Amino acid sequence: MNAPYFRPKELSAALELLVSQDLRIAAGCTDLFPATERKTLQGPVLDITGIAALRGIQTDKNGSVRMGATTTWADLIRAPLPPAFDGLKQAARQVGARQIQNQATLAGNLCNASPAADGVPPLMTLDARVEVQSTEGTREAALTDFISGPRKTDLRKGEMVTAIIVPKSALLGTGHFRKLGARDYLVISIAMTAARIVLDGGIVVDATLAIGSCGPTSVRLREVEALMIGRPLDVSLISDQQVAAAISPIDDIRADAQYRRISAAELMRRTVLELATQQEVAA
Ligand SMILES: Cc1cc2nc3c(=O)[nH]c(=O)nc-3n(C[C@H](O)[C@H](O)[C@H](O)COP(=O)(O)OP(=O)(O)OC[C@H]3O[C@@H](n4cnc5c(N)ncnc54)[C@H](O)[C@@H]3O)c2cc1C
Repeated sequence: MNAPYFRPKELSAALELLVSQDLRIAAGCTDLFPATERKTLQGPVLDITGIAALRGIQTDKNGSVRMGATTTWADLIRAPLPPAFDGLKQAARQVGARQIQNQATLAGNLCNASPAADGVPPLMTLDARVEVQSTEGTREAALTDFISGPRKTDLRKGEMVTAIIVPKSALLGTGHFRKLGARDYLVISIAMTAARIVLDGGIVVDATLAIGSCGPTSVRLREVEALMIGRPLDVSLISDQQVAAAISPIDDIRADAQYRRISAAELMRRTVLELATQQEVAA
C-alpha cells in the first residue's frame, strides 16, 4: 500500500497535519529524492508546494524582505531586489542547473542543512532570519542559530519553515558570492564565500562576510568585519590567519583541510575585491 501523501492548499491545514502525525515535509524534493536512493518518496509525505501563500517575495510593512518558504531559486533570480541581494542571486545561478533552480527552494536548502549549501553564506551576509510556524504560533530564529550542525536545524516537532526574512537594516550595500569547485557548474562547493559591503565616501560603514563548506556549518567572519569597518576598503585585512581561525575544515573527497584553509581566505579576498571593483565602475 502507498504511504499517505498530503498536498494541502492552506497553511493552517498543513500545520494541523504536521502536529497530528509524523510527516516528511517535501518542497522541491531535490535533496529529498537523492537522499532516499529510491524511485518513490517513502513515508507519509506533506507536500507544501500547493500552499500559494508560501511562494513569492514581498516587502513587509516594516521594510523587511520576506521570501516565502516555497520560493524557488528561479523566482529569486527573476525578482527585482536591491544590490545587497546580488550575492544571493549569484549563488542562485550556480545551484545545480536550470532544472534544479526551477524546482528547488531556498528554504529546502536551509532545512537540509548541508555544510555545502550555497544559499547559507549569502543569506548570512544579509542577516537572514528564519520564520517558523506550528499550530502553537510563529517564532523567528537568526539563520546563524537555525542551522546547528551538519544536517541539523533547530526545527521542532510540528514546525515548518514558512519564510526567510531579510531585515531592512541589511538591505544596504552590495553583495557578492564566489564558489570554488572542481568545475564551474553542477558541482558541490569546496569552499564558497559571500560578502556584503556598505561604503560611504570610500569608507566601509558595514561589512558582513561569510564562508561555507569549510566546517560543520557556514560561519560569519565577525572579527575581520569589525577590522574593516571605519577604514577604506582593504582586502589585506582578510588575512590567512584570521580566516583559518574562524573555520574548521575537514579532509574529504573534494579537498583536504589545508587546501580549504588557503583557498577560503583567497576566495574571500577575491570576493571583496570584485565587489569593490564593481562599485567603482558603478560610481
Ligand atoms: C543535481 C543537483 C544539483 C544540486 N546542486 C546544488 C548546488 O549547486 N548547491 C546547493 O546548495 N545545493 C544543490 N543541490 C541541492 C538542492 O537542490 C538544494 O539544497 C535545494 O535548495 C533544496 O530545496 P528543495 O526545495 O528541493 O528541498 P527538498 O528536497 O524538498 O527538502 C530538503 C529538506 O528540507 C526539508 N524541508 C523543505 N522545505 C521545508 C520547510 N518549509 N520547512 C521545514 N522543512 C523543510 C525537507 O523535509 C528535507 O529534509 C543540488 C541537488 C541536485 C539534485
